[in-house]
Order: sequence, then structure tokens, then C-alpha cells
Amino acid sequence: MIQLKSTREIELMAEGGRILAATVQLLRREVRAGVSTQQLDQIAEEFIRSHAGATPAFKGLYGFPGTLCTSINQEIVHGIPSKKRVLREGDIISIDVGVGFEGYFTDSATTVPVGRVDDVTSRLLEITERSLAAGIAAAVPGNHLGDIGAAVQHVVEDAGFSVVRDLVGHGIGVEFHEEPQVPNYGKPKRGLKLVPGLTLAIEPMVNIGGPATRTMPDKWTIVTVDGSRSAHFEHTVAITDSGNRVLTAA
Ligand code: MG
Ligand code: MG
Repeated sequence: MIQLKSTREIELMAEGGRILAATVQLLRREVRAGVSTQQLDQIAEEFIRSHAGATPAFKGLYGFPGTLCTSINQEIVHGIPSKKRVLREGDIISIDVGVGFEGYFTDSATTVPVGRVDDVTSRLLEITERSLAAGIAAAVPGNHLGDIGAAVQHVVEDAGFSVVRDLVGHGIGVEFHEEPQVPNYGKPKRGLKLVPGLTLAIEPMVNIGGPATRTMPDKWTIVTVDGSRSAHFEHTVAITDSGNRVLTAA
């Protein structure tokens, strides 16, 4: 069932989204060689909990242990923070984080270079972020879910990269994962028609190589089959009468 949100509900999501955006900005500044993913997780948890009414949404969600999903290089999503995973110069790290606030959830992700990265990696980050912007631009009333996916896919494939298909974006709000699913591929004018009050997590996951994925023995971390690097950018977006509102923008 798709749960449309009232203006009041969207305002609460925007309030949580501001805390989430500040968390993401803080983490982007904390990424550097020598930092462990567990240190980043601790910084994020303390920062989120320092805001009255805010909680780390991932902690305990389906049994996940962390505040963040931290996914390095060929890891696409759902990496578990660990003191053994220490960032090195030239790595990239995807940081995915969710916030609960007054009963409503928001979700955001970013991928950050650790110091200097190679040119292809740098382009991967640029294209993935640009594909998210294209997906958001297509998320307006009267368009369809397929328009979002097609916009993302077009940017990614034009650049010679591939869109992950095994994982998708989602509705969000009262529950962390709500209907509908929001694929990062598709055909224009297909799928659910977008209407005001719909709140979506749009989240392209983009690989330098092929789209195939597999799950590691820890049962969480999802990696590229070909070992190529992957990037992930995400915002929570509300469809409004006049277009949309990005609820997790800095
Ligand atoms: Mg997320
Ligand atoms: Mg999400």
C-alpha cells in the first residue's frame, strides 16, 4: 500500500531530514585515511542522538548492527562498520544513513573519496551524483516512476557505467521501507503515476563495470561480482503540487 503524506507529515520528515543532512555533511568532513568505519559510525550515532527526538534508523533495522552502512570500493551497499576496516588513500566510501524523527523516517547516502582517487573513480562519483539529480528532476507530479528510472539510467549508461538492478529505491516515511519500489532503470511514462504527497528515497547505485552483485558471507555486504568500484548517492524527496522538495538536502 502506498501511503501519501500530509503537509504536516512532510514538515516532520523535513525536520528529520535536516538532521540527516547535517550528519552526512559532518561525515564527509571526517572521512580521511586512517579512520575506521566504526569511528565514523560512532560519530554519526552521537551526532544524531544529540538532537532531541532523533534516532539512528538503521540500528536494529532487520537486525543491522550499525548507525551507518559503510561500503568501500567494490562494496555497493550494506557494509557493516568495523574497527578493522580502516580507510586508505585512494579508496572511496559510500555512507548510507537514516534518521527517525517524531515517528517519521528519512534516508540519504553519499560516496566520498579518501584523499586523491584515480580519474575513473572520480568520474564515477560525478556521474552517480549527476544521475541522482536527473532522477530527482524527473520526480514531479504527472510523471511516472519509469521517468525517474529512465533519467538515472540515461545519465549512467551515457557515461559507460552500469546501474545496479538488484537493489532499488523505495517509498519512505512512516516505515523506513514503504511501497513503491523505485528502480534506477526503466521506461518513460511507465509505472505508477507520481502524485503530491508521495515520499520517495531515490538512490542510484552505479558500477564502473557490470551490474551483477553478490552478497558476502557476512550476509550483509553486497559487492560487485567483477570487483569494479561502485558509488551510491541518495536523497529523500517529497512530490509536491509544484514539483518536489528534497528533504535531505544540505
Ligand atoms: Mg539509504
Ligand atoms: Mg534507501
